[in-house]
Amino acid sequence: MVAHYSSKRAHPSPHGAEANAAARKGKRLGLKEFLGVFRYSKRAVELVWTTSKLLTILLALLTLVAGLTPAAAAWVGRQIVDSVVAAAAAVELGAEPVVQIVLGWVALEGGLMIVLAGSQKGLSMCQSLLRAMLGHRVNVMILEKALTLQLVHFEDSEFYDKLTQARREASSRPLSLVNRTFGLVQNAISLASYAILLLAFSPWAVLVLVLGGLPAFLVETKFSGEAFRLFRWRSPETRKQMYLETVLAREDYAKEVKLYGLGPLLLQRYRDIFQLVFAEDRRLTLRRGFWSFALGLLGTAAFYGAYAWIVVETVRGQISLGEMTMYLLVFRQGQAAVAASLSSIGGMYEDNLYLSNLYEYLDQPVGSEPGVAVEGPEPGDGVRFEGVSFVYPGSTAPAIERVDLHLRPGQSLALVGENGSGKTTLIKLLTRLYQPSEGRILLDGLELSQWDPHHLRTRVGVIFQDFARYQMLVGENVGAGDVENFDDEARWREAAELGMADAFVEDMPEGYRTQLGRWFKDGRELSGGQWQKVALSRAFMRSQADILVLDEPTSAMDAEAEATVFEHVRNLTADRMAILISHRFSTVRSADQIVVLDHGRVVEQGSHEELMANDGRYARLFTLQAEGYR
Ligand code: ADP
Repeated sequence: MVAHYSSKRAHPSPHGAEANAAARKGKRLGLKEFLGVFRYSKRAVELVWTTSKLLTILLALLTLVAGLTPAAAAWVGRQIVDSVVAAAAAVELGAEPVVQIVLGWVALEGGLMIVLAGSQKGLSMCQSLLRAMLGHRVNVMILEKALTLQLVHFEDSEFYDKLTQARREASSRPLSLVNRTFGLVQNAISLASYAILLLAFSPWAVLVLVLGGLPAFLVETKFSGEAFRLFRWRSPETRKQMYLETVLAREDYAKEVKLYGLGPLLLQRYRDIFQLVFAEDRRLTLRRGFWSFALGLLGTAAFYGAYAWIVVETVRGQISLGEMTMYLLVFRQGQAAVAASLSSIGGMYEDNLYLSNLYEYLDQPVGSEPGVAVEGPEPGDGVRFEGVSFVYPGSTAPAIERVDLHLRPGQSLALVGENGSGKTTLIKLLTRLYQPSEGRILLDGLELSQWDPHHLRTRVGVIFQDFARYQMLVGENVGAGDVENFDDEARWREAAELGMADAFVEDMPEGYRTQLGRWFKDGRELSGGQWQKVALSRAFMRSQADILVLDEPTSAMDAEAEATVFEHVRNLTADRMAILISHRFSTVRSADQIVVLDHGRVVEQGSHEELMANDGRYARLFTLQAEGYR
């Protein structure tokens, strides 16, 4: 999905605006909110566990080893010093020193270091494998969810924000959360083992160790919450930036941007957004840096206080030199472990905040249960609109108001009306891209919502005015109309003949296998009218469909080509229904039924002859256009 915003998009709800305002002010977090954000840890662990059980187990085992080894090494270090001191004392007494013992301890410490290095390497290998797997898995989850969303979701700017945020950050966050959890466990194990060693010296020393790290932790947590709120608040800005990047750097915009000289103006906007965002970032970075340095000093003071204490105890002969070495090491490493655990917790908090985004997106309800019916009680009744109204989310005026229609198999219907009169909306309702706000739409006597969505889709072939231009092979662009026959070249040809694309496709160097679009090597660009012919052929791929809808797909073709296309549609529609939207009355007049829309309401309805006899709006417009051609 390309970042995309248009004036049609609904505005963020007042609720979202409030949340944003609160976020800007940096609303304080209560304890409940603080603990609440940890609720995603379990889901993150589950996610990692189900991604790879083997790697998770390995990760856990290596964490245990890496957690215990440092304390063991510190203890061995003490044995080395003490045995050296004992050996020196033995020499003074004239006895033979036992060098083997000392060397034994040294060898053991060397061994432990190898184990530690091995387990750390193992941990980082497991993590990078898991990162790749997990990143892919989360992205697939996000895209799978996107497939189940309704069109309204994509048009809702607040929801679109969630999607963008989830895609930008959350694919790396679950692993980060799990890494931090394991890191925390590893540090906790180390700390517990240090505490056991330290307890022999003094329980107070343990307390100093833990309390020394606390202020730095509080700072971390406070600022990570703030960073997240900043991230959320400016997500619309970031999206605007992404959009500007697209406009400035993509081939389909390049033409206009150049000719209208829009480049510098848009680039300036891009810069302004950066300045705005960066100013906030800089303020936060500076404050964060200052406070974590200031409060970090407290930890350093605690460490040197303990240092002095241990040294004094050694001088007073209360503890041996070996013990002093061990305690100093334990204290130094213990302090690092406390700092690391606390920053893990701060980081987990941050990851949780980001993950809340991902899960909010994934848990978004996607609407009512789909129906299951594959046939209606009155086969052959066709399509009925009964008092259908529709209001776009976020808008006040209905785009469609109390529309009644009936289209029988074998009939064709033309929709006529000014731009914005609701023609496309009517089609979107018929194709279930939206649900009516009022009234009902029936197919064969059964409401659309009760039909099996997949079955319903196979019955409808539709081409919108803003059809998609896939940067794939020409043939695939046609084949896209029927996924089951996506690759069937024979079917491509049949459909292209009906859509009148066959002539120019066959002239292309690689025929149906020609790559379209400029994104890929040797891609060819088509003219507007050629693209429309490709899109029409796509609609003709849907040979199962008994409702064919053409929403102005022929506007870029000449009148003759348009007439031929509709001829093809009519020939196809022995017992099919065709709905067409066109501004050319020469085409419209041949429809069995013509509906004139104005501001979402049906103002006239009937055959060409009836409407002309009626001498109303249709007759006026028809005459106007006919005069233009004279
Ligand atoms: P037509 O196809 O006749 O040109 P549309 O059905 O596209 O008209 O639009 C009918 C009305 O609904 C217009 O006023 C338009 O602004 C509004 N509208 C269309 N699409 C959306 C949308 N996605 N969100 C909000 N309003 C929309």
